[in-house]
Amino acid sequence: MNYLDYLAKDLELLKMEGRFRPITVWESGSDSWMKLNGRRLLQMSSNNYLGLTNHPKLKEAAMKAIEEYGVGSGSVRTITGTFHIHDELERELAEFKGTEAALVFQSGFTTNQGVLSSILGPDDVVISDELNHASIIDGIKLTKASRSIFAHKDMDQLEKALKDSQSHRTRVIATDGVFSMDGDIAPLPDIVNLAEKYDAIVYVDDAHASGVLGKNGKGSTDHFSLHGRVHIQIGTLSKAIGCVGGYAAGAQVLKEHLIHKARPFLFSTSPTPSVAAACLAAISILQESSDLIAKLWDNANGFRTELKRLGFDTGASETPIIPIIIGDPAKTMRFSDRLQQEGVFAQGIVYPTVAMDKGRVRLIVTARHTKEDLSFALDCLQKVGREFGLI
Ligand code: PMP
Repeated sequence: MNYLDYLAKDLELLKMEGRFRPITVWESGSDSWMKLNGRRLLQMSSNNYLGLTNHPKLKEAAMKAIEEYGVGSGSVRTITGTFHIHDELERELAEFKGTEAALVFQSGFTTNQGVLSSILGPDDVVISDELNHASIIDGIKLTKASRSIFAHKDMDQLEKALKDSQSHRTRVIATDGVFSMDGDIAPLPDIVNLAEKYDAIVYVDDAHASGVLGKNGKGSTDHFSLHGRVHIQIGTLSKAIGCVGGYAAGAQVLKEHLIHKARPFLFSTSPTPSVAAACLAAISILQESSDLIAKLWDNANGFRTELKRLGFDTGASETPIIPIIIGDPAKTMRFSDRLQQEGVFAQGIVYPTVAMDKGRVRLIVTARHTKEDLSFALDCLQKVGREFGLI
């Protein structure tokens, strides 16, 4: 058998399990309504929480930066790929997050990989929530540190892991700020208290919390008023910020260490100046006004309440990420397909992204959705939900 036969066999297995999905190729950009096969669909699966991908100020900033710097950055950050605009973005991000410093990476995924693999060595232990994002899991895999997984948000298990690991040099507790598949919020105050009791480091991935939680979208640390007590805050520039990239915010020493050790930072060409410029514009929009965030929460809370009233199981959601728990993977994908026929795009999420019996359609409400959009979605969900016996 040649290697392509092995790969084809893998794909056959996925098909048998109903998990083979061709990529959806859209005919219009990220927005609340998007075109697919000539049809407009209401978009309920995008991370563009505040609709900033289309904001005129971001577009203008990006175009200006292209005029000034060109379209690419030409090198990795440590050679000729760092411009004033990168520096400015990092200073703004640090201020936004209330930290001494911040370092920008090419994506949120590589930020987690780069940071965890740099700061953890064989004498350390990382204690990680079982539902943390794949990039945290992969970051941990890249280290020689000992690892311990605690059941989702289970503070007793976390405390036990901290007690059992007292001989290690550094203990890092890693958690998502908002969990990406369930839309629930990490119990950060309890985590911080335990970290302080056992002298551990708190590492929070705020990919879905930045621009969403806290004053002006500053994230989970601000939301819980834990300023100065969370050591490392990870963020992405690809969701609420509307662009692409990731960052780590924390101490200046951490930043300098990452500049020298984080391999995705060292060996991959820097983010384009136009992306940095658009991100700066996004942060200034967030700092100027919290109107978009207020709209996001108003939309999300109203929509979740209505879904529950209709009888849907929205799991533990308490943010704009609102799953409808269905269970069986094949049924989940059929439900998603039926919604699409009705005009709503809502991605089905099944094993291995979530447990085999926890298939769900994950809805993401944004500030761009109008009341009419959301009531259209609710009508479709009610119709299809009844067909499927979910409500
Ligand atoms: N962390 C979490 C919790 C995420 O949900 C994601 C995005 N799926 C990432 C990190 C990766 O971010 P990015 O898309 O910027 O690589």
